[in-house]
Amino acid sequence: MLDEIAEEIRKCRRCDLWKTRKNTVPGEGNENAEVMFIGEAPGRKEDETGKPFVGAAGDVLNEMLDGIELKREDVFITSVLKCRPPNNRNPRPDEIAACSLFLEEQMRTIKPRVICTLGNVATAYLLRRFGMKPQPISRIHGKPINIDTLDLHFTLIPMYHPAAVIYNAGMRNALVNDFKTLKKVIYRRTR
Ligand code: SF4
Repeated sequence: MLDEIAEEIRKCRRCDLWKTRKNTVPGEGNENAEVMFIGEAPGRKEDETGKPFVGAAGDVLNEMLDGIELKREDVFITSVLKCRPPNNRNPRPDEIAACSLFLEEQMRTIKPRVICTLGNVATAYLLRRFGMKPQPISRIHGKPINIDTLDLHFTLIPMYHPAAVIYNAGMRNALVNDFKTLKKVIYRRTR
């Protein structure tokens, strides 16, 4: 099923980003993942390789996953947009609206128990999607929110985007602590 979604993404021309992409970046990981990470959009390296979170931000994410003994192959990693915005500009609302059906299909297929949103864009999308007012990531990072709808039941944990913490020791420490919170939530929900 995830393969079918990825194939649809590869053919997608729902917004203009298909014109400038080298590759689509549907996401990768485990179809039965308990934890899903959602970033903002592919960057240059992701566009070149078709893989999510490679390059410097990917190194940070890998380090954080190692820190709580989670493997990339056990989680699912994707982003709100599946094609790179030129020059890494912020995703536009019309692009998010056009692309969100793929993320929705991925969430409904995987049915993760925990979703970690990485950065403001993904966090604002999920909060709005589930009827909450977006708040700055600096205010709500690391604070778990339980979401229960007809077809999705998960704990949302907003986090800083790994790219944002590369040159900021304070934010990096916050991300380390938020991963510790993730570990506690996973442990609590699997006991
Ligand atoms: S960003 Fe999403 S909606 Fe736009 S072309 Fe790529 S896959 Fe399609």
